Amino acid sequence: MKNLGKMFVLALLQVGVIISLPLFMEKGEDISPALPSAAVMAGEKTEPQRSELPQAETTTIRLLSAEGERETELEEYLFGVVAAEMPASFEDEALKAQAVAARSYAMHRIASGIHNGAICSDYSCCQAWLSEDELKEKWGAYYEIYSDKIRSAVNETAGQCLAYGGEAILAAFHSSSGGKTESSENVFGQAVPYLVSVESREDPEAVPDYVSSVEFTEDELYAAIAAWDSEAAVRVSEGALFSEAVFSTSGRLISVKLCGEEVSGSVLRKIFALRSADVSWERVGNGIRFIVTGYGHGVGMSQYGANNMAKQGMGWQEIVYHYYPGTNIVPVSSLEESVAAL
Ligand SMILES: [Zn+2]
Repeated sequence: MKNLGKMFVLALLQVGVIISLPLFMEKGEDISPALPSAAVMAGEKTEPQRSELPQAETTTIRLLSAEGERETELEEYLFGVVAAEMPASFEDEALKAQAVAARSYAMHRIASGIHNGAICSDYSCCQAWLSEDELKEKWGAYYEIYSDKIRSAVNETAGQCLAYGGEAILAAFHSSSGGKTESSENVFGQAVPYLVSVESREDPEAVPDYVSSVEFTEDELYAAIAAWDSEAAVRVSEGALFSEAVFSTSGRLISVKLCGEEVSGSVLRKIFALRSADVSWERVGNGIRFIVTGYGHGVGMSQYGANNMAKQGMGWQEIVYHYYPGTNIVPVSSLEESVAAL
């Protein structure tokens, strides 16, 4: 139980990183692949059977934003979330997958009881959300085109959500993965049945800074480590800087001894502000260079992976079933009102 809070904190810290992405990726590019879900494997082609779905019922939520608390429609809220979370230039099916992931995440968050059943617009806590005015400023001359795209993505998936065991899922997502997503337990410290490592083919040419390197001089290295642990910094010049590194099967760093003290891959990311834990390093004189692939915690749906799948002709259902295996697309109205502690 105590891990739940930690998990959310970690998840939201990571989500925060992702949420800031659109600001830097306005000209989004993309990519990725897929593994199936039960329905897809069973051969059910899940094209949106709109006529068979219950009419999207109105779901009212309470949104906490800088402007205060207000009641709003879930679907209206999601327009501002998808617009904040994914570049509007992405493929339609990727935007729909993002809408469903954001809807699921929101319903999970609300059902968890955070903010007494409300949700906030702070990316470091719940999900990013931008108002119409903020989007007009962000998109400028593209406002009409982009807002139409995002509204379509939300409307065409209206009321549809991912569930596991009848509950809305914790639909974590991230910007890009280096070939495979990461299992929840390796990042959040707790296994989640639908947040397991899956293949994620991504086009290095389409993802900004897919592979990045960052170099620290000896002084910068010392400063970064001292900001984390002043006692460890004293040991920078003694013995091995890194030892006993453990990597997951997805290639991400699970843990390493930094100046003799064990840290997780997530903590190492924070210490050195690395884009992901898919990292290797090499000494450069008395300093160090990190080589990093992808961006974000790597758990759940890769946004660039989703966009790649969409470019390959796959629909949003295939995308979400690939990244959240074992889940089901259900109407929001069928969800349990609360979620079990993870
Ligand atoms: Zn919040």
